[in-house]
Amino acid sequence: MQKSLGRRLLALLLCVAFLAVSAFSAGFIVSHAEHIHDTHGVAGSCMTCAHIVAAGQVFRQIATLAAIVAVLLGGLFLLLFCVHFTCAYARFTSPVYLKVRMNN
Ligand SMILES: [Zn+2]
Repeated sequence: MQKSLGRRLLALLLCVAFLAVSAFSAGFIVSHAEHIHDTHGVAGSCMTCAHIVAAGQVFRQIATLAAIVAVLLGGLFLLLFCVHFTCAYARFTSPVYLKVRMNN
């Protein structure tokens, strides 16, 4: 019981951290979309632009991962549906269900 509660709290903390990172990244991108470029970054690049690109890459990676998980879960549900249908067919056509006497 205590171990399960710990896992739930950990999952909740991970979800809250994920949502906070996503919200702050989106807020950073929106608030700094039209900024004044500076040249104080590495090799004269704009650090704000570099952070916006990094946040955008995080969102792209999350979207790719979500698409892969959606496809895998869809395939899993389709497979389970087919297995369930096959098992139901086998159950209703089995000799036990049909009450076939096999002791001739
Ligand atoms: Zn910039």
